[in-house]
Formats: sequence, structure tokens, C-alpha cells
Amino acid sequence: MAQVVIVGAGPTGATLALLLAQRGLAVTLVEASRSFRRTFRGEALMPSGLAALGHMGLLAMLETLPHQPLAGWEYLLEGKRMFQVAEPIEANAQPCTLVSQPALLAALIEKAQQYQHFEWIQGTPVQDVVHHQGRMRGVQLRDGRILTADLVVGADGRNSLVRQRAGLTLERRSHGIDLLWFKLADSSCLPSENVFYALIHKGQTMGLFRSAEGSLQLAWALYADDPTDWKQIDWPQQLAAASPPWLAQHLQAHAQDIEEPILLSVVVGLCPQWSIPGLLILGDAAHPMSPIRAQGINMALRDVMVAANHLVPLLQQDANPETIDAVLPQIQAEREPEIICIQQLQNQELAQGERLRQNPFLRQMVKLTLPLISGFIRQSWLNRQHQLRQGVTQIHLHV
Ligand SMILES: Cc1cc2nc3c(=O)[nH]c(=O)nc-3n(C[C@H](O)[C@H](O)[C@H](O)COP(=O)(O)OP(=O)(O)OC[C@H]3O[C@@H](n4cnc5c(N)ncnc54)[C@H](O)[C@@H]3O)c2cc1C
Repeated sequence: MAQVVIVGAGPTGATLALLLAQRGLAVTLVEASRSFRRTFRGEALMPSGLAALGHMGLLAMLETLPHQPLAGWEYLLEGKRMFQVAEPIEANAQPCTLVSQPALLAALIEKAQQYQHFEWIQGTPVQDVVHHQGRMRGVQLRDGRILTADLVVGADGRNSLVRQRAGLTLERRSHGIDLLWFKLADSSCLPSENVFYALIHKGQTMGLFRSAEGSLQLAWALYADDPTDWKQIDWPQQLAAASPPWLAQHLQAHAQDIEEPILLSVVVGLCPQWSIPGLLILGDAAHPMSPIRAQGINMALRDVMVAANHLVPLLQQDANPETIDAVLPQIQAEREPEIICIQQLQNQELAQGERLRQNPFLRQMVKLTLPLISGFIRQSWLNRQHQLRQGVTQIHLHV
């Protein structure tokens, strides 16, 4: 029976492992971290991501996990509402939904463990890859074990070691922001519980929402052109200064409870080549995604469907290595146009905010004329969202 080794149990690796195991294939999934409770990595699923889970037969499982549909989006400019949009923003579509990622990953692994030929190795990173006669033949774990494979899948995220060891280059795209992530257990200040708030205040931008597990999550954009040393800042005071009164009061009252921020450095890019003989890279390993408008998990799930469509029939027939290798570039060819388009759309969204952030005169003008132009700004935002929510191409799981 063909043996697949998947490196990394993020959304890409965990769902691909489950799909392959469900279809009778031998899969070993290797995850470096001991727990799924790692640094926050986002939990918003767009309708395209929810549809992907639907194709995978996982929506019933989702219902058992901590999750909450968003009620809407609200954009505030220096404390004043610019516009508000209710979810779902398109007719007959699902609302964007927050899903606890640790709970989702744990549930996916638990499900995969029901299959006889699934092996789960947790807490042991892959340290190297194993080549033999011009083809990747497996991986080496930090504890020295060697896992041989007919196909290795690198799903080890944006800093992918597998990608680096395979000599696949990542073309990084300039993004210009990193995020500081704050958590506060008490989210009772939110005027509407499940609304995602985007705040632009003077030269600062932040996003705010209640997570699927109930805490208040606050993302502060750190701009490359801002020389301030974020480690020296009195954050409760700084956050409050950039907030409308309902949030400022809450932050000041809970200043002691605001956890130290976590720096989430944003990597955005695309690999020109996603495979070499014996290896395929997918998800953030092949195309690290910006957090803008919550796309990465959704794109990862769509990569997995396309990969499964191509790989399952071959692996089930024990196809020879040349036949498996020949299909790998087709997976990239099918996925790459959507990834390029979505990354461009994310950049456009970022650029919209940048215009306001960098231009005090424009901010002032928009603020003064909001009663007149709010409807126009709202419609322009709505017009840009369709592909970011539904994806660019039609994808179905055929296997
Ligand atoms: C701040 C921030 C917020 C985000 N918010 C959202 C959001 O709301 N919605 C959304 O759709 N996307 C969001 N994203 C993007 C999203 O998190 C990623 O695109 C997505 O997680 C990619 O999934 P993945 O499985 O490919 O990689 P990852 O989720 O990065 O998973 C890779 C896994 O591989 C493991 N690993 C790494 N190296 C090794 C090794 N050597 N051996 C074994 N295992 C290894 C890691 O521990 C990890 O578990 C956000 C990103 C950022 C930075």
C-alpha cells in the first residue's frame, strides 16, 4: 500500500491526512508542537472554507466545536462609525464563522485516528528530508527516526523546513505590516457581541472581535514605516487612546488583565514551484497568506480538496513513482491562479486602509462628510468582497 508522510498538522496537514485515511490510504502525520494551543493563528472561516468543510463531510463535526457565526462588520474612523454590514453579506450564503482552531485540529486528528492505517506523531519535529536517486523518499525526525514514503507532503506552514530542505524557493511579497495580538478574557464591552470591528485612529489601525472561545481578541497593526519600539509602550494606555469611549473605558478598567502582546510576524509569498519528485508542498508552505480578510485557512482547505482529487485515485492504485510525480505540477497549476488573485485582493484591501491611515487630510475629509458618503464607502466595500468570501474558482471534492 502507498505510504504518505504529511509534515505539519495545521489546517492543511490535518484535513489532508483525514481525507487520505478515510479513503483507505496509509498516512503518517507528523506535528512538531506538543499541543494545538499554539500562538493564535486566526479562526475565521469564510463561506468558501465552510463549503470546503461541507465537501469533506465535516460540518456536523463543526457543530460540536466552539464556534460562532459573525453577526457583521463595523468600520470606525476616529471613533465614528464609517459603515456597518450585517452577515451573511450575500443572499443564500453562510456567514463568516469563527471556529476554535485548536478544537478543530484536535477533532480532525481524533477522527483520523479511527482509521487503521493512520499514524499520528506529535511533539517531534521533522528535522530533514531523505533523498534517494533524485527523488524524495521520506523524512528524518529530530529523534533520529526515518519515515519512508512514496509521497511526502510539506504542510509545515510559512517557514516550512521541508520547503527549504527541498530547495524550493519562496518569493516573498512585501506586506508592510506585522501584528501585535492582545487577549482579554472579559469581552462584555462589545456593543454587538459577534461583530468584527476595524478601527482606524490617527496613524493606527486595529481589529477587534470576540473569539469562538469567548475572549476579546485585539490585533494592532505594526507598520514597517513606524519606528516606535513596541516593547517600550504602555499598551493599555495606547490601546485606550486609539479606541472609542466604550472600548477605552473597558481597556482602562481591565488594564491589569491585558496579556502581554504576542508579535505575529506576517509572511506573504508564493513559491514558483510547489513540488519536486516525491514531494508536494501545500497551504502556507507553498503560499503564506496575509491575515487580511481571513483567507489562509480557506485557501488551505481548497488546496487539500484539489490535492485529494488528483492523488487519491493514483495512491489507491499503487501507481508508480513517475505517475505520482507527474500529477504534482497539475495540483499547483489548478490552485495557483486563485492564490495569486486572492493575494492581490488582500493587497487591495490593505491599500484601502493605508490611504486613510497615511493621510490625515483625507481622514478629516471622510470624517466630516461621513453622513453623505458612508453609503458609498459601504457599497464599495461590499463590491470587493465576493471573491474573498466565495473563492475565485469552482472546487469540488470528487473522491
Ligand atoms: C495573525 C494571523 C491571523 C490569521 N487569521 C486568519 C483567519 O482568521 N482566517 C484564515 O483563514 N487565515 C488566517 N490566517 C492565515 C492562516 O493562519 C494560515 O494561512 C493557515 O494556518 C495555513 O495553514 P497551514 O496548515 O498551511 O499552516 P499552519 O497553520 O502554519 O500549520 C503548520 C503546522 O506545521 C507544524 N510544523 C512546522 N514545522 C514543522 C516541522 N519541522 N515538523 C513538524 N511539524 C512542523 C506547525 O507546528 C503547524 O502546526 C492568519 C494568519 C496570521 C499570521
